[in-house]
Amino acid sequence: MSKQIKLKTLKTKILKDKVCPELAAQGTQLVFGDGNPEAQIVFIGEAPGKNEDIKGLPFVGAAGKFLDEMLATINLKREDVYITNIVKYRPPENRDPLPEEKMAFLPYLQQQMAIIQPKLIITLGRHSMECFMPGMKISDVHGQPKSIEGQVYLPLFHPAAALYNGGLRKTLIEDFATIPAVLATL
Ligand code: URA
Repeated sequence: MSKQIKLKTLKTKILKDKVCPELAAQGTQLVFGDGNPEAQIVFIGEAPGKNEDIKGLPFVGAAGKFLDEMLATINLKREDVYITNIVKYRPPENRDPLPEEKMAFLPYLQQQMAIIQPKLIITLGRHSMECFMPGMKISDVHGQPKSIEGQVYLPLFHPAAALYNGGLRKTLIEDFATIPAVLATL
């Protein structure tokens, strides 16, 4: 079975299992993921926002535009990578995802990664990082690849946080620039 079909089956399973029904009821639709299932790099954000909820695709608002721009600086397009979130429904008013919401979606995110088998998982922001690297502080570990049980992770700041903060923006762009070199070691 192709990765594409396996991912489609997993998406159907999330719907069938009624993961986070309160969130599902408040949002427009499940935002499962976008990009190339054969990608070497997967980006994992936090949860869909307003635009993502409307379009059914991750990172299509302002933060997504910034992510696209950063991808272009390392000669990549969205179609070259895979992009998803931990929590796959929009939290009301874009509030932070709750720990129980992250826990509810984590097994599905793990299955999604097991299907894609990326060389590198890039976590965007604290919430995504904490799923894989509990107890770490993003300000301490951003931009430093970490291997956990055979999977390499690169924690980065969230593009939305960096969008209007000049210092963070500079750091994120610098960390992003290391991606090709990190990938080349894998
Ligand atoms: N922020 C996220 O974490 N994910 C999205 O899909 C959009 C914005």
